[in-house]
Amino acid sequence: MIWYPYEQMKTMKTPYKIEDAQGVYLYTKDQKLIDSVSSWWSVIHGYKHPELNNAIEEQLKKFSHVMLGGLTHEAAQKLSDKLQSWLPGDLDYCFFSDSGSVAVEVALKMALQYYMNRGENQRTMVLALERAYHGDTFKTMEIGDDEDYHFVLNAYGKSKHVVHIPTEIPALEEAFEKYHEQLNCFIVEPLLQGAGGMQMYDISFLKRARQLCDQYGILLIFDEVATGFGRTGNRFVADLVLPDILVLGKALTGGYIGHAVTVANHKVYEGFYDEDPTHALMHGPTFMGNALACSAALKSIELFETQDYMSKIKQIAEITRREMEGFADPRIKEIRIMGGCVCLEVYDPAVLQGYQAFAYERGVFSRPFLSYLYAMVPYIIREEELIRVLDTMKEWFRTR
Ligand SMILES: *Cc1c(COP(=O)(O)O)cnc(C)c1O
Repeated sequence: MIWYPYEQMKTMKTPYKIEDAQGVYLYTKDQKLIDSVSSWWSVIHGYKHPELNNAIEEQLKKFSHVMLGGLTHEAAQKLSDKLQSWLPGDLDYCFFSDSGSVAVEVALKMALQYYMNRGENQRTMVLALERAYHGDTFKTMEIGDDEDYHFVLNAYGKSKHVVHIPTEIPALEEAFEKYHEQLNCFIVEPLLQGAGGMQMYDISFLKRARQLCDQYGILLIFDEVATGFGRTGNRFVADLVLPDILVLGKALTGGYIGHAVTVANHKVYEGFYDEDPTHALMHGPTFMGNALACSAALKSIELFETQDYMSKIKQIAEITRREMEGFADPRIKEIRIMGGCVCLEVYDPAVLQGYQAFAYERGVFSRPFLSYLYAMVPYIIREEELIRVLDTMKEWFRTR
């Protein structure tokens, strides 16, 4: 019996059973559905992509996995080389792991230990954002600010190791002023906060954060697990403002295999690099650098580059803006669009009750949550398919 995620099992409705998937489509026994969620924002090239399939099959002929403890292999080496040259600035050191949550844990551990290695043991605090989501493991829940996990707050009380601020510059400046001696890092989902409700904010906030981190010597971490690989309309937000540590996941493997990477810059790496064995980073997920995942990631990045995905994403944003122009409804609080993400926020979550079944009937898979109806489509989507996704959203409001 499967225990499903984020569900009260007693009342959950039967999930749709997928029997096949190709391109942007999911196939159930009786319906063909555009996946407007990209399987939790990861399947950027669509399903059953021939080149991605082939890359994995080729690696499978050699081996599917060997551990990175004491061993290494070409796929992981090539992927780290590629990321080193492809990512901005001196983000050069790749620590692989099997999921975004773990990769964020690694980033937080790096930030804490970076200062411990220097004898700055008082720097135990993390600055984070209100509405942040960084994963479902305990430390990532602690630095997150997500209603779903408030039971943890009830159990332990508010952590004294984290401060949450809104995405406003005065609050940012005040927090640095007040806590700079205890902080080891400031972690953000840059520009777009996904699970917190597709909240969007301005780059000026991140630019100011970079200045303050430099001024006070605090590490800046970008959790681009969701925003990476073009979702905000930027290849990475890290292309605009350079963090000290960058976390990638979700679309890293084109949504093929769970994998993630924590990429550190030279400053962070050098904080661990010396004669003292206790200064080493003591972490090692069993499946880090999995060869099938690395092969998929390499091919995914190759497709992203050679097929000019950035212009595909630009088009998705343009079509979305055009189609949403002039659309309004008194039940809708705000329509937000950024790159390959569109979100309709309603005042009352009850308004979205029944939307999933409505969309299913119209050949769209959607999964609204709380008061957010959104789409994050695969980048290979065709114009008429994207219009169908958006029309379905509009029709929901027009027909009731
Ligand atoms: C999904 C997500 C994570 C967690 O990734 P998992 O692979 O689900 O563990 C972390 N951070 C952000 C911003 C995410 O969207």
